[in-house]
Amino acid sequence: MTIFSDFALHKTVQQAIFDMGFEEPSPIQAACIPKILEGGDLIGQAQTGTGKTAAFGIPLIEKMTPANKIQAIILTPTRELAIQVAGELRRIAKYKKIRTLPIYGGQSISHQIRALKQGVQVVIGTPGRVLDHLRRKTLKLDSVSMLVLDEADEMLDMGFIEDIETIITHMTDERQTLLFSATMPYEIKRLATRYMKNPETVAVSREEVTAPLIEQVYYKVFDRNKVESLCRILDSEDVELGIIFCRTKRGVDELTEVLQARGYLADGLHGDLSQAQRDKVMHSFREGTIELLIATDVAARGIDVSNVSHVINFDIPQDPESYVHRIGRTGRAGRKGIAMTLVTPREMRQLTIIQKQTKADVISRSVPTQEEVAE
Ligand code: ADP
Ligand code: MG
Repeated sequence: MTIFSDFALHKTVQQAIFDMGFEEPSPIQAACIPKILEGGDLIGQAQTGTGKTAAFGIPLIEKMTPANKIQAIILTPTRELAIQVAGELRRIAKYKKIRTLPIYGGQSISHQIRALKQGVQVVIGTPGRVLDHLRRKTLKLDSVSMLVLDEADEMLDMGFIEDIETIITHMTDERQTLLFSATMPYEIKRLATRYMKNPETVAVSREEVTAPLIEQVYYKVFDRNKVESLCRILDSEDVELGIIFCRTKRGVDELTEVLQARGYLADGLHGDLSQAQRDKVMHSFREGTIELLIATDVAARGIDVSNVSHVINFDIPQDPESYVHRIGRTGRAGRKGIAMTLVTPREMRQLTIIQKQTKADVISRSVPTQEEVAE
């Protein structure tokens, strides 16, 4: 077994990890941290919720110096994730004089420009906004010695590959490049071959991932009483926090309205909301003042809230990758979770495809009757 003190980390970093309550490194951390400290390029692949952020975050913070220049940049697919990663890095850097700054669309650019002028060592950004700053020359990356592409497969899905390539042209070759991803599609491999120097791949397979913490079930439902079925399920379950996925933004709005009208502590999250609204919803969800977050795939990407007990696919996901990403919002940090999928008769085929491709064991359950709910 590996423990954090096995790594060549400064005591300030060790203490911060201790304060975070991390007792031992996760498998992906145990494998990646020493290699990143050594200095080579690295590709880290492991399922969601396995601690990939700290796998690069710990050695990254270890390597940062107080020198007033941007030394590292981390690219993430969404604003929520940029904020989340920045938060985790800040905790790791608790006892070091390192400034981190998330930059993302939707937040006032002049605010970001001011913060950049004050000097930061680590920038965490979404590709679009980073490019925007590069074009305005309010961000320079020529002093960057570390580049991290986080959740690379999701950045691919969101169409960011070209932006990433342009961003890379603003850096020198004197850098260490790290790439983290839950899956490794061809385009990501190609990106790695192009922009990384003899990268070493560290893959933690499913079996090594701490136990199957996510129970997976499905309910056969009919379109006409889908909402009623959902409510019965919710009422018969002990939901701490739940994320409910809908296929479209409109679907999110409609379901949010219905659930709120029925008295659930629910709110919606999707890309048409302003950044301030999204931050507010996420804040209330983390605090538990709302218990059900209704979201589209894109809005919920990478969200890490540790006590999500239920993920409910109100609409079955379009593809197996999306299923994996969605259910990965629960069962995090060693906690148990349950993923539920509502399936209409004509969607049964889609469920079979998901089951085959993800090798998941999704068990059938029946929607509780009114009497069962009342008990
Ligand atoms: P991933 O990027 O692989 O999806 P995250 O980096 O978001 O996963 O980590 C998932 C959760 O696990 C976070 O809440 C994180 O704080 C927690 N975590 C990470 N590493 C450890 C550890 N070694 N011990 C305990 N909790 C951890
Ligand atoms: Mg991650």
